[in-house]
Amino acid sequence: MDLTLENLLAWKGIAVAIWFAGFFLLERLFPAAPYPDGRGKAAPKRIFARLAISAQRVIRNLGLWLLNTGLSPLVVLPLSVWAASHALDWRPQWWAGLPGLALDLVILDFLIYWWHRANHELPFLWRFHEVHHLDGFLDSSSALRFHFGEVLLSATARAGVIILLGFPVSSILVFEVLVLLASIFHHSNLRLPSGLETALSRLFITPSIHWVHHHKVRRDTDSNYGTIFSFWDPLFGSRSSKVRSPNMPIGVEREDERPYLTLLLRPFRLRG
Ligand SMILES: [Zn+2]
Repeated sequence: MDLTLENLLAWKGIAVAIWFAGFFLLERLFPAAPYPDGRGKAAPKRIFARLAISAQRVIRNLGLWLLNTGLSPLVVLPLSVWAASHALDWRPQWWAGLPGLALDLVILDFLIYWWHRANHELPFLWRFHEVHHLDGFLDSSSALRFHFGEVLLSATARAGVIILLGFPVSSILVFEVLVLLASIFHHSNLRLPSGLETALSRLFITPSIHWVHHHKVRRDTDSNYGTIFSFWDPLFGSRSSKVRSPNMPIGVEREDERPYLTLLLRPFRLRG
């Protein structure tokens, strides 16, 4: 790994950590939906009580994330770097610099839309992605909650895309940072001024759009697949007409959240 890549990775870590800490704090000061206390009642208003109540699921989400942070330098990153060094060299000259990066970001967001949709429509992929959706509430920690199997499958699919479309490592890294920032934002429970949220939602996926994707009703779970840009869902007929409400149940229809170890083993069960 060269120094430039190491520097970029360090900056990526710092930017994501600051962004996450900011949203984690703000969504507890200005929540859009009441925090559950585990018995279906609204949480007390005091911030420390809220923190204690949501601690169990936050720890569970961070526990899943911890496994993935271990996999990143061992598997995910080397696989992406290897793929970039074996990428097909067919790109024209004009597809470089900032315009090239902007085009790469739109193409990668288009591809991640279809990858996310495949994770819902193909039963094998859903086994892993379901772990993300079993979270019974949403906040910025939900953005880090993915089964390690899904992370490995995504890394393999991404390597194929990098080789075929010849993406440079820089585009992949910038895209990964933007995906993390966007994901922390649209999973967050931060109450935004409605005018600001409406304006942002014209171009970007906002919490009001993505929370509907986590609605405990399968029809809505299988909608609103976008990650960064909000125009793919209307374009491909997957935008839900459901409007987010503060007490909307979150999770997977007819399923409940599971303990940490059960979540890790769940994709490998014999029967669906
Ligand atoms: Zn999903």
